[in-house]
Amino acid sequence: MTQHIQYPESGEKIKVVDGKISVPDNPVLGYVEGDGIGPDITRASMRIWDAAVEQAYNGKRKIHWAELYMGEKAAGLYDGDYFPEETQTALQDLIVSIKGPLTTPVGGGFRSLNVALRQKLDLYACVRPVRHYDGVPSPLRKPEDVDVVVFRENTEDVYAGIEYQSGSEENRKVAKFLKEEMGETFFDDAGLGVKPISPFGSKRLVRKAIQYAVDNNRESVTLVHKGNIMKFTEGAFRQWGYEVAKEEFGDVTITEEELYSTYGGKRPEGKIVIKDRIADIIFQLMLLRPNEFDVLATMNLNGDYLSDAIAAEVGGVGIAPGANMSDHVAVFEATHGTAPKYANQDKVNPGSLLFSGVMMLDYLGWTEAADLIRAAYQKVVTTGIVTYDFARQIEGATEVKTSQFADAIIEQMQGRIDLAKYQQEREEAIEHDRKVRELRRVASPLEEMIASGRTPQSVREMMNPEPVSVAAATSVEDAMHLMRERHISSVICEPGDDGAWGIMTQRDVLSRIISAGRRPSDARVSEVASKPLVTVPGDMGLQECAEKMSKENIRRVVVVENERPVGIISDTDIFAAVEQFGLPE
Ligand code: NAP
Repeated sequence: MTQHIQYPESGEKIKVVDGKISVPDNPVLGYVEGDGIGPDITRASMRIWDAAVEQAYNGKRKIHWAELYMGEKAAGLYDGDYFPEETQTALQDLIVSIKGPLTTPVGGGFRSLNVALRQKLDLYACVRPVRHYDGVPSPLRKPEDVDVVVFRENTEDVYAGIEYQSGSEENRKVAKFLKEEMGETFFDDAGLGVKPISPFGSKRLVRKAIQYAVDNNRESVTLVHKGNIMKFTEGAFRQWGYEVAKEEFGDVTITEEELYSTYGGKRPEGKIVIKDRIADIIFQLMLLRPNEFDVLATMNLNGDYLSDAIAAEVGGVGIAPGANMSDHVAVFEATHGTAPKYANQDKVNPGSLLFSGVMMLDYLGWTEAADLIRAAYQKVVTTGIVTYDFARQIEGATEVKTSQFADAIIEQMQGRIDLAKYQQEREEAIEHDRKVRELRRVASPLEEMIASGRTPQSVREMMNPEPVSVAAATSVEDAMHLMRERHISSVICEPGDDGAWGIMTQRDVLSRIISAGRRPSDARVSEVASKPLVTVPGDMGLQECAEKMSKENIRRVVVVENERPVGIISDTDIFAAVEQFGLPE
């Protein structure tokens, strides 16, 4: 076999040490320039990456590139072989590589080169960060709210390729088995496909998503699924996802249910919230409330649709970056195709490949270089210097060639960017957004839950947390002041001599004090409060709680955990939940 790949002598290879990649200052990285527009965007992007690294580390760090061959260039060099063995070995050996788009060879023995790549290297996670940059055209009113990273499972699901064509012998065999032995019913001659979703495949994907959230100070990981319909595949993915979070990341994660019930909507410092959403609802939410979401973990098919849909919200394929990863080996890539009609015209947007390289720099831990490119890109685009695809959407823009766009970014990076300020502003904006959302969750948990697409199941999720309690000897007058001040209609009465908790509502004050002509300053809360307290445990279902309220003929009950009141739930809360979501399953 002809050998064409040559590693540069001056660089060192990345290694894996103690389960993490260890990156020298002079790593050898692989690159595949790709077909069609690939060489144009690769050339331009490499200049930018190299300049950013040089600028950020004053020449102390440098990428040493090794060209690897795939696609048409490989076929020319390796006797028609589009994905030579040598390239497969090098991608694994170098650990980190980046590639341009590739033409899918017709009749080349591959379904697609990209699929072959994923399978050969077991790149089980397709990672797509999607965020907005000022100046980039978007159909959203507040595109800056979009800042998510999609982790899509790459090896399973209906994409696993287990399909039986209508009319084939195999199809007849499988159909016969399903109908006769399993008692299934479906129309004759239906094409059949299998949807394998395994604990192994699901867990390694979710594990990677959570680890990313931990490493990058993200707020939440959302498991996307259609488990309400496909219980044993998509529902199982959800369940295995929660299991990984609990078993392997128990000290750094909480569930969304706990966020509301235990923490009253306040995310404890450093904890990542694990939540889940039904796949179709997430499309709507990513348009209406994108800033509720952070890291998304999906199965293969859902993730395919979802990542393109989200990318379209903030600039489309021209700038959407991506990577395919295994535990350590990562191949970063442009997410668009080879756009052959623009090949060698120095015309197209290098953004997708450029930002895949920015992801790659982040993956190496070279975030200063990555931030430099992000900041410079934003500056260039906001001044209206863009390639043809954005120019046709931005009035008054200056259309430039791919190489000129790269020149503009490099010029920006060299000297005119206050990186510390850029980083600080971004961190402050993220922190501010998080605080605003937290305040809303704490103030009106129900509205927030509704708006963010969560369906409450238990009283814990619907209660008003942190009930206000007063000592038994408090005067009714003082308690009334407190109730007005806090806008609450009841207070909990702490145990007095009788050792029993109680509750005093506005109605109790009206019927037992005011209508009886007593002065509130002369009465103690313990005399007025209803005792014993009617309580329910936090995990009680809403229907059961409604039953209890009607039986006791009361309008609110106190939620108790570990023998302490942790919240109050009223008939209005249950009414609102059922009106909004229907009865929980
Ligand atoms: P495509 O190459 O992505 O091009 C479709 C259109 O998207 C282009 O005509 C252009 O739109 C726009 N576009 C793509 N890249 C752009 C860029 N960098 N800057 C600005 N606009 C860009 O899709 P395709 O024509 O369906 O596929 C062509 C070939 O690529 C096929 O052989 C396919 O198999 C392959 N492909 C490879 C990959 C991959 O390697 N990852 C992915 C997808 C497709 P306008 O015409 O509106 O200007």
